[in-house]
Amino acid sequence: MKIIAVVGTKNTGKTILVTKIVQELVKRGFSVGTIKHVNHGFDVEGRDTWKHKEAGAELVVAAGDETFFLVNESLKLDNILERIKCFKKLDFMVIEGFKHSNYAKISTSDFEDKFTMKKVNAFEIDPDALHSLVDLIEERSYSMFSQMNCKECGFKGCTDLAQAVIRGEAEEKTCVMKKEKNVTLHVEGVEIPLNPFVQKFVKNTTIGMINALKTSQVGDVQGKKVELLIRDEDNR
Ligand code: SF4
Repeated sequence: MKIIAVVGTKNTGKTILVTKIVQELVKRGFSVGTIKHVNHGFDVEGRDTWKHKEAGAELVVAAGDETFFLVNESLKLDNILERIKCFKKLDFMVIEGFKHSNYAKISTSDFEDKFTMKKVNAFEIDPDALHSLVDLIEERSYSMFSQMNCKECGFKGCTDLAQAVIRGEAEEKTCVMKKEKNVTLHVEGVEIPLNPFVQKFVKNTTIGMINALKTSQVGDVQGKKVELLIRDEDNR
């Protein structure tokens, strides 16, 4: 899931630009989600869902023709993105706000940092300019980096590679963590990145251990898919 943030000061057309980008991406056949940064709560005082929350529920779901999840805490952007990945497979996530995040950005004002790909006048963008902008988004936006900073890509860290992708000087797939993984680890549904060394270590020790069990049902597990689930009920 590639991520693009539309940032800028108040009343500079961020929402207008977000909707235009979403429409163009959808027109191109991509599945798209959006996140908007807000400075207020969502629920309306007195509603049933508000009463559930006030009673102490940490998660309130309103289910009907649409489904509304209300988590009673402020989550960081990366936590939100991780949870969305478990919940829905999307090609692009368009974010409105979060100007200090480390994702590719389009600015609708004078704001600019090393993640800013382009500054745009959201009120005057014409169809050709929008087309070029979405081409740029397709080409240079990227998905979450693990932030392991292992330097295997030849860059000083994940942020350096991300900024090189924005400048068009490197490709996201240079990151070793984005290549096909032999071993994945999920804790409560959230994927925990493992560097190639740890993947190899976990794979070899787990396969060695299972082979030592001499499981007659499956024989040698080398080359087979192995799933290991740990439930630490004692410490709950
Ligand atoms: S290889 Fe990937 S995880 Fe390692 S520093 Fe480069 S971008 Fe970060």
